[in-house]
Amino acid sequence: RSLTAAEAEGDERAIEAALRPKSLDEVVGQHRVREQLGLVLEAARRRERAPDHVLLSGPPGLGKTTLAMIIAHEMSTPLRLTSGPAITHAGDLAAILSGMNDGDVLFVDEIHRMSRPAEEMLYMAMEDFRVDVVIGKGPGATAIPLEIPPFTLVGATTRAGLLPGPLRDRFGFTAHLEYYEASELDLIVHRSAGLLGVELTEEGSAEIASRSRGTPRIANRLLRRVRDYAQVRADGVVTLDIAHAALALYEVDELGLDRLDRAVLDVLCRRFGGGPVGISTLAVAVGEERETVEEVAEPFLVRNGFLARTPRGRVATAGAWRHLGLAVPTSAAM
Ligand code: ADP
Repeated sequence: RSLTAAEAEGDERAIEAALRPKSLDEVVGQHRVREQLGLVLEAARRRERAPDHVLLSGPPGLGKTTLAMIIAHEMSTPLRLTSGPAITHAGDLAAILSGMNDGDVLFVDEIHRMSRPAEEMLYMAMEDFRVDVVIGKGPGATAIPLEIPPFTLVGATTRAGLLPGPLRDRFGFTAHLEYYEASELDLIVHRSAGLLGVELTEEGSAEIASRSRGTPRIANRLLRRVRDYAQVRADGVVTLDIAHAALALYEVDELGLDRLDRAVLDVLCRRFGGGPVGISTLAVAVGEERETVEEVAEPFLVRNGFLARTPRGRVATAGAWRHLGLAVPTSAAM
């Protein structure tokens, strides 16, 4: 019997959960964040207090949810998970907060997408551990103060700059997660292969690592796709040749650029002569949300020297033209 799409996705999520590091010691890379966070947690444990609120920023798949789970785990408290888009009314947040116990960790993913009224309620909750619940409407409305036990908020966002200043300022510790080095991704691929019982060679692992777009989630996903290929078309061992063939099949190029990354460069060079182009125009041209282009594709392209942000818009670098196999115009940015 073959899996339905939903089952397959559930399966993928279950695998992702199984591959998550459970403690700070198991986290690969992010040395500075690990050390800083380790200190914050150790100090809180010694004082027997809930740690300060933590803000984690960085592109998707770099370990924000993983770190939130580790914070709860290391403090031996339950983790409550929600997300900005799920909190459309202040009342949604009040319901969550009023159900919390002393020392609980509340994880709010995509915290920059919370509604304004909820955000304002959150300021108060973070600072004073109380909120005002408004009952009724108009002149008859009354605010009922509600005490909340001390808790730790862990917020995640793709860019800290998306948060309003007052919210950002209420986090006692902010960590920015950076893309991973190929050597770190190599360790992650090895670790995951061990957990999944996949046999792989050094070259096979290095190949997957170098095409993972600096992102652990992608490294784990590519490992699973290459494993599929190895099992169906070969003897199950992930070698360099198998990794090459599988990644070519899934259209992951040798630098790890995915379809969206390539589409952005392609449109920028072929349609707009290398720019400058505004981000909104670029997003429309590739048929994606502006946020996705700005928060997912762009940081990777900038970090790898394919794209530059200028006051007049985005421009393609000489490297971008070359990567697309096009002649570099003399005007191209270096
Ligand atoms: P985010 O919340 O930033 O989108 P996640 O925390 O969900 O990212 O991480 C995605 C996957 O990548 C997880 O399943 C986890 O196994 C893996 N991962 C993330 N960071 C690390 C890390 N530092 N070491 C090992 N695995 C990691």
